[in-house]
Amino acid sequence: MSALSGAGAAVVRWFDSWAGDPADGAADPFRPDLVRVVPFALLHLGCLLVIPAGWSLPAIAVAAGLYLVRMFAITAFYHRYFSHRAFEVSRPMRLLMALAGATAVQRGALWWAAHHRRHHRHADREGDLHSPRLHGFWWAHAGWITSRAHFRTDVSLVPDLAKYPELRFLDRFDTLVPLLLAAGLFGLGEAWAALDPASGVTGLQMLAWGFFVSTVVLFHATCTINSLAHRLGRRRFATADDSRNSWILALLTLGEGWHNNHHRYPGAAAQGFRWWELDLTLLGLRALEAVGLVRDLRPVPEALRREGAA
Ligand SMILES: [Zn+2]
Ligand SMILES: [Zn+2]
Repeated sequence: MSALSGAGAAVVRWFDSWAGDPADGAADPFRPDLVRVVPFALLHLGCLLVIPAGWSLPAIAVAAGLYLVRMFAITAFYHRYFSHRAFEVSRPMRLLMALAGATAVQRGALWWAAHHRRHHRHADREGDLHSPRLHGFWWAHAGWITSRAHFRTDVSLVPDLAKYPELRFLDRFDTLVPLLLAAGLFGLGEAWAALDPASGVTGLQMLAWGFFVSTVVLFHATCTINSLAHRLGRRRFATADDSRNSWILALLTLGEGWHNNHHRYPGAAAQGFRWWELDLTLLGLRALEAVGLVRDLRPVPEALRREGAA
């Protein structure tokens, strides 16, 4: 497989993201690979299906619900657990969290965590893949994922996760869960149409709103943490990067907008460090802790809560 490169490799990687030469594209990490990003472009074009499909309250509610649930899966699981290990879980729960995160269509937990760990290691300095300071706003927002060099999961950055075969499988075949979600939503819409024809719900409508629109909005909301959260808001801590705290972004991303706090102390389960810094992901994690699904949420050190300007 190592001979596989170029456009052929790009197509195979739509289905098997680990296929081909791991070093493919490394020589030019800032060049977009147009073939590889066809699924990403189709995801955006799929939103146009709302034109023939129309809308209904159930379809909008499913889209909004999936936004919230999947944003939580990204922030609590892909970010705070897989990237930062900010709490502990059992192995079955770890698999459930990887599955939940995979429904967000932001690739596998290993890929997500590896890139994010690299972001913290180099934040806004050479080696950071998505720094607005170094590469401009749009590259930091979404441009970086179009580069062939950034498609492959660098398992050397996530050895603690890559030792689990079930996580490696989900990471390698990262389109599997999104396709199942899309098919499930279409099926749900068709069943709804059969049971309650007066509702106006159809399979195409549920697919358009529940999968395409919800996923694209979720994607760009997540990306604001790489782009806007290093540009918009206040800096409590004089970190070496440009990270900022923003109420708007914290609401949009269930707590991730307290990004300057997070760069100051990435290992904590909390990102809101003051009582008034609403962090819905933390509240969700506390609820999961109360029912025994997660444990040992890592606290913010008390001295840090008093450090920095208000
Ligand atoms: Zn950052
Ligand atoms: Zn982080």
